[in-house]
Amino acid sequence: MSRSHFTLDHGAIRRNARRLADVAGGAELWAVVKADGYGHGAADVARAALDGGASALCVATVSEALELRQVLREPRLLVLGPVAEEELGAAREARLEVAVGSGRVPENVPVHLKLDTGMGRWGFYELPSPTRDVVGLMSHFASSETDPEFTRLQLSRFLEATAPYAHLTRHVANSAAALGTPDARLDAVRCGIALYGISPFGDAPAAHGLEPALRWTSELAQVKLLQPGESTGYGRRFVAEQPTWLGIVPVGYADGFRRDMSETGVLVAGERRRVVGTVSMDALAVELDRELTVGEEVVLLGDGVLAEDHARIAGTIPYEIVCGLNTQAPRAHREVVE
Ligand SMILES: *Cc1c(COP(=O)(O)O)cnc(C)c1O
Repeated sequence: MSRSHFTLDHGAIRRNARRLADVAGGAELWAVVKADGYGHGAADVARAALDGGASALCVATVSEALELRQVLREPRLLVLGPVAEEELGAAREARLEVAVGSGRVPENVPVHLKLDTGMGRWGFYELPSPTRDVVGLMSHFASSETDPEFTRLQLSRFLEATAPYAHLTRHVANSAAALGTPDARLDAVRCGIALYGISPFGDAPAAHGLEPALRWTSELAQVKLLQPGESTGYGRRFVAEQPTWLGIVPVGYADGFRRDMSETGVLVAGERRRVVGTVSMDALAVELDRELTVGEEVVLLGDGVLAEDHARIAGTIPYEIVCGLNTQAPRAHREVVE
């Protein structure tokens, strides 16, 4: 038995891609599908994004890129993270492009030089002169979702340093900058989170013309009545004050329903209900308002249950919620719908 069920809506990804391509204006849309497509399934998301107008794919590592190359022979594939010397052979063979932000610039592979304009992570502080293999110049924003002023400062540093090389493809914008900082769109925007229909700003995706693409469901596996004074779960963190119907759902933190998502909202039989008590490894409890039958659907994500809401409860960002989902068989069942 699958404990839970993930449905990826191909159409939603395609429409989000179209929306982002529209927003980008003349800039190309590059779809960021690292970390297995933010937990959504990299290959499926990549196909939908390409259908929706993306012209390249970005991942974090060479191994992620090689896996995608197996199923997608044609599209441009850019590795954003550092590439080790010994991975270069495989990268060339698979026609990958690599971002380089330190050390020697490799040869015979298309390179994007990465400038650190304030992220303080990967990247050169001083742009080396582009060699003949350099096709792009890039940087990454530290706080484009919250701090437009610092974003503009990073952008102006980048534009100044790269001004002599305007013939190369210049790209700096992530989702937040693509949506919120028009000047940062340059030649290409690298969008991840927005492609999945999740707002980089933590607000409602619909406000940006985006739709969530992942639906995660399970079911009530047991229904029981707690008497006053009885509790559910480890640590007895929820104690019934009155007779309380509880639904037990066979999903827990091993599936990606984090322990700190206790108290978040899910849908049971189409109605919003609260997760109560401590989420365990393989189970969680939902407070019901009446006796329901075993097998009743529980929606953990989708149908208005947003990763943004779970993230707020857990004190994190929606990126971390979706990247932590365990969508793999045999624990979960996965399908793609149009
Ligand atoms: C992950 C990543 C992105 C995408 O960021 P989102 O906020 O998900 O749009 C863009 N550029 C780089 C370098 C990244 O690592």
